[in-house]
Amino acid sequence: MNENIGKLSIIIPVYNEADNLEILHNSILVVMSANKYEYEIIFINDGSKDDTLSVLTRMAATDTNIKVVNFRRNYGQTAAMSAGIDYATGDIIIPMDGDNQNDPNDIPKLIYTLNQGYDVVSGWRKNRQDKTLSRILPSKIANWVISHIGGVKLHDYGCSLKAYRYDVIKNVKLYGEMHRFIPIYASWQGGKVTEMVVNHHARKFGKTKYGINRTFKVILDLLVIKYLEKYLGNPIHFFGGFGLVSILFSILAFLFMLYLKYFDGRSFIETPMPLLVILFFLVGILSLFIGLLAEIQTRTYFESQGKRSYAVRNTLNI
Ligand code: UDP
Ligand code: MG
Repeated sequence: MNENIGKLSIIIPVYNEADNLEILHNSILVVMSANKYEYEIIFINDGSKDDTLSVLTRMAATDTNIKVVNFRRNYGQTAAMSAGIDYATGDIIIPMDGDNQNDPNDIPKLIYTLNQGYDVVSGWRKNRQDKTLSRILPSKIANWVISHIGGVKLHDYGCSLKAYRYDVIKNVKLYGEMHRFIPIYASWQGGKVTEMVVNHHARKFGKTKYGINRTFKVILDLLVIKYLEKYLGNPIHFFGGFGLVSILFSILAFLFMLYLKYFDGRSFIETPMPLLVILFFLVGILSLFIGLLAEIQTRTYFESQGKRSYAVRNTLNI
C-alpha cells in the first residue's frame, strides 16, 4: 500500500544507550509493520563504552533490517549522522535519537507531510521534556538566531527527528555541530522545507551528553555556514569589503586630525587620532591581504577536488 513512498532509512546515532535500544527497536517495529513500510534501521555506534555494541550485535542477528556502523572511537553525533547518510540506501532519510526521547509514531505523520510536496519536514518538540534553564531557554534563543541568519524559519533545529528526501541531502558534508543545519543546506539547494509538531519524552535510561556549552558551538557553526554560503566563491568581497571600510575610517581619522591641528590648534600628539589612523589603516590592509589569501584557498578548494561553484538541476539536449 505504500509502494509509492519508497524505502525508509532510519538513522540512529548512539553513544552509551545500551538500555534504550531494545525498547526503541520494538517501538519502531510496531510502526513499520502497521504501515507496511520498506525500511532499514542504521545504528551508528559512536564509540560507546557500555554494552551498546553487544546489544546492537544481538539485535542485528535477529533482524536483517538492522544495520550497524561501528565507529572506532567517539566522533560525536554529527559525524555519526553523516555516516548514517553515507550508508543509507533509502529514498527517505529519517534521523532520530537512540534514547527514546523521539517517538517512532511520528514517522508516518512526517512522511505524510513530506508527501504534500516537501523535501524536508523538521520535527518541532513543542512540549520538550528537558531542563528549562540549561537546555530549553538557550535553544529557544539559538533557534531564533539561526532562523534569522539562515533564512529558514524553524522552531526547533535541534530536534533530531526529521524527514528528508535522500536527493536533497546525499551530497551534504557535515562538520562540528552542523547536522542541525541540514534544512538550511537543503533550502539552498532549492529544497522545500516545513515543520511539524512531534512528541517528546523525558529520558528514562542513560543520561544526556550535552549541556549549555553546545549552544555556543552551534552559534559559531552558524557563522561558518553563513560565511560559506555567501562568500565561499568570492572571499575577497567579505575581507576586502571590511578592509576598504577600515581604510576609509583611517582616512576620516586623518582628515579629522588635520582639522584639529589647523582649525582648533591642537597638535597631533594631543589627540588619539594618529593612533586611530594607523590602526584602521593596518587592519584594512591586512584584511585585504587575508582576502587575497582566501581567494587562493578558494581556488584550491574547488579545483583540487573537481568541485563546481554551481549546482545544476537538469539539462536539455546535453
Ligand atoms: N550521541 C552520539 N554521540 C555523541 C553524543 C550523543 O551518537 O557523542 C547520540 C546519543 O546517543 C543520542 C543522540 O545522539 O542518541 C542525542 O543525544 P542526547 O540524548 O544526549 O542529546 P539531548 O537529547 O540531550 O539533546
Ligand atoms: Mg536525548
